[in-house]
Amino acid sequence: MSRKKNFFAGPSVLPMEVLQELQAQLLDYNDNGLSMIEASHRGQPFEDMYNECLSLVKELLKIPDNYAVFFLGGGASLQFSMIPMNFLRPGSVADYIKSGSWANKAVSDAKKVGDVNIYYDGSVNNYTSLPDVATVKPSSNSSYMYLCSNETIGGIEWQEWPDTKDVPLIADISSDLLSRPIPVEKFAMLYGGVQKNLGPAGATLIILREDMLEKQNKNLTAYLDYAQHVKSGGLYNTPPVFSIWGVKLVLEWIKKNGGAHGMAKRATLKSNLIYDVIDGSGGYFKSPVDPAYRSKMNIVFRLETEELEQKFLAETKAAGMVGLKGHRSVGGLRASLYNALPIDDVQALADVMKEFQRVNG
Ligand SMILES: *Cc1c(COP(=O)(O)O)cnc(C)c1O
Repeated sequence: MSRKKNFFAGPSVLPMEVLQELQAQLLDYNDNGLSMIEASHRGQPFEDMYNECLSLVKELLKIPDNYAVFFLGGGASLQFSMIPMNFLRPGSVADYIKSGSWANKAVSDAKKVGDVNIYYDGSVNNYTSLPDVATVKPSSNSSYMYLCSNETIGGIEWQEWPDTKDVPLIADISSDLLSRPIPVEKFAMLYGGVQKNLGPAGATLIILREDMLEKQNKNLTAYLDYAQHVKSGGLYNTPPVFSIWGVKLVLEWIKKNGGAHGMAKRATLKSNLIYDVIDGSGGYFKSPVDPAYRSKMNIVFRLETEELEQKFLAETKAAGMVGLKGHRSVGGLRASLYNALPIDDVQALADVMKEFQRVNG
């Protein structure tokens, strides 16, 4: 079997060892005589696996004890509505940093729930930059401030975090989850879909400071109420079992490969391989984003014409590479370099880029 070099933005590449382990254990999980995905989520095999998974999340992200950690369904997208429904209190505003496609979707849902203050509007620079953290101050009547740590489509990533003092800071970390250490204690809530960096699609990781529940809106229906999930240890209803199992195996792989620091090193090394080609191309490959906020996970780049971009895609395809087309909303090219993508695959892409310029430039 020849595996593709997988640059998809999500769902995305998983470590080979994890796929092999899922395959080996699919029919008979740890000699239980049945599969993990056939077992009750109230039974011992699931509970053991689930608890190990949660303790790995806590260990690898260094999550303090006053945070609840659990998984929900509905994708990261469901959080766009749950966050304002739970935390945007009547008579206050929520400050949103409108930094690109994903933050903008969160804004649009929050506006249907309550008053939103667009603290920063990236549309002025076509979502290629972010605000200077030192200047970021939430409104005086703010329920929370919201940001997206890595804009998967636009290819920009926060490098430092604003200090919002007493105002809870909430972040969507879907596409850079565990690609670097993050100071959890600066945030009231972090969340992310697991399908970019942590496992098969299905689960959304929620990390919630427990005091947030004290200020929460009441009268929410059960599933939409964070308190309900915290009270039930994340098992209010059937969790996405297969996804969580995959996450547990990916977390073991991350731990073995140096944890959050190890992933950050890999991400720097891999993204430098591509940014160096772009920067050394004399403008042949163009990165549209502010160099201060370049994403290490999703590298967006362009060629002079769409014809050249089509040709480039055809050549990468012939070289066994998939997923390099930019998001349909913005066009261009994009290489997603998530944790599990091997360094050799990134080197291969860098080589194809240089060769493409040599022949067509
Ligand atoms: C992919 C992505 C989402 C949406 O995730 P779903 O699980 O498909 O709802 C949200 N935010 C960011 C930053 C993403 O990359």
